[in-house]
Amino acid sequence: MSKSIVLLGSTGSIGVNSLIIAKQYNIVIEALVAGSNIDLLNQQIATHAPKRVVIANERDKHRVNHHNVHCGADAILTLIEESQSTTIVNALVGYAGLAPTLKATNLGKRVALANKESLVVAGEFIDMSLITPIDSEHFGLWYLMNDRPVSKLYITASGGAFRDWEINKMKDARFSDALKHPNWSMGNKITIDSATMTNKLFELLEAKWLFHTSNIDAMIEKKSIIHALCEFKDGSTTAHFAGVDMKLPIAFALQGEVTDEILPPTDLLSMGGLEFLPIEAERYPIWNIKEHILNNPHLGVVVNAANEVAIEKFQNEKCSFFGMSDIVLDAYEKFGDVKASNIEDVVTIDKEVRVYAN
Ligand code: NDP
Ligand code: MG
Repeated sequence: MSKSIVLLGSTGSIGVNSLIIAKQYNIVIEALVAGSNIDLLNQQIATHAPKRVVIANERDKHRVNHHNVHCGADAILTLIEESQSTTIVNALVGYAGLAPTLKATNLGKRVALANKESLVVAGEFIDMSLITPIDSEHFGLWYLMNDRPVSKLYITASGGAFRDWEINKMKDARFSDALKHPNWSMGNKITIDSATMTNKLFELLEAKWLFHTSNIDAMIEKKSIIHALCEFKDGSTTAHFAGVDMKLPIAFALQGEVTDEILPPTDLLSMGGLEFLPIEAERYPIWNIKEHILNNPHLGVVVNAANEVAIEKFQNEKCSFFGMSDIVLDAYEKFGDVKASNIEDVVTIDKEVRVYAN
């Protein structure tokens, strides 16, 4: 019998790539979950023939070409509960991805997890033995690590849309400017998070939960050819090179083992020079809290909630580019003493931070 998956966020950047890999490996798509891009969803339904579909809003239901359509966040949880698939691919964006991750893991299902916000917000309360990350850096780290004793892990950052801008000019940067990522084509939220370096902060927390270490750092590698490095106790360092394409991590997350060519190999001779640069807090103010949050990862819920509010404000021109960091750092200070004891506390803290940040 073919393997089957439920795909949450099918119309997004990760979702679309997941369907390409699923087709390549004859993985059955039991169900698709999308937001409001109904045209693309209808194409996916025609190609993959899911048994069930969930969309965000009731108002779009009549446009979906399927006999079994449900709507809203609770319908996603019911779908996971009633699904036959033992793997759920979670490619939803933001806090909305947390409840589905928890539902799936509580049912003992494996989660191929692109939604890193789940780990940032509630890593402490998620059964990590059921999580396989879909993130190029964490895939790179996993690929590099072996039984040798590791001394430190590194992930790389592209530096985002403004890495080469004058800092003064960044003060007036607009949402559309921040969406111009130099290397990757991704959804809007993660592209903004790359410009502020919040994405890399989240990835450090993600690595913390995945690999059980706070001994991890990040640096800029502008070409995004090296995704991760592993420093061993003996003094040697290995680096993971791969193309700028999420299909490789997705293939491993869905298949476990991959022996076919997913991407063309890196052409070392055409690559030119490689450069590693520090991440500077002047350009990326969020970096001021890096050490503190790595030692206090339960504060991820605060940063995530404030960050989601800040992005919305920036998009609606209610705050400047650096205004986003101001909102997040202010909330981080204000809520520095909170500590969730369970998932209900996480939900409460998330709500309180959003009210405050707004
Ligand atoms: P996109 O914005 O491209 O996709 C998000 C998906 O979620 C879309 O299918 C969207 O539907 C769907 N969605 C949004 N809101 C709802 C809702 N309320 N109900 C149901 N579906 C909803 O994001 P990405 O694919 O870029 O990112 C997804 C996750 O993966 C993020 O957590 C990101 O950080 C992570 N990630 C992404 C990478 C990338 O290369 N893109 C790399 C590593 C991690 P619709 O479009 O139909 O509205
Ligand atoms: Mg990444």
